[in-house]
Amino acid sequence: MKTITIKCPHCGKERVLGWNNAKANIKCPHCNLKMKRDAKTEKHIKLCGLIGGLVITFVISLIVAIILQNQDPKYTMIGLILVALASNYLATFVAEFISFNVRPFTYEVVEKEDRKSQKKDK
Ligand SMILES: [Zn+2]
Repeated sequence: MKTITIKCPHCGKERVLGWNNAKANIKCPHCNLKMKRDAKTEKHIKLCGLIGGLVITFVISLIVAIILQNQDPKYTMIGLILVALASNYLATFVAEFISFNVRPFTYEVVEKEDRKSQKKDK
């Protein structure tokens, strides 16, 4: 499995992450520094989600269509709802999985000055 090593900019301790635990927000286990996936990473995940979502929806629809070929129309309705739910659910995982393997995630420190920037907007 592919992994990335995140070096904490605060305490310098390294942490190895796989796609399944490289969450949007992570915390350094040593000094509790908050980090988040940077804008480039999030953009790439969204792009992978778009492509992955289309492929998943297509494949699941095809499978459901074959299974429900000669069934009652009411089962087709239930099938379609399940397709929508499953695609939505799976796309999130697939997006992160593909994105992580194509372009390893990069993180940035969560700024503590969020309140200050809100004041500037006023
Ligand atoms: Zn740290």
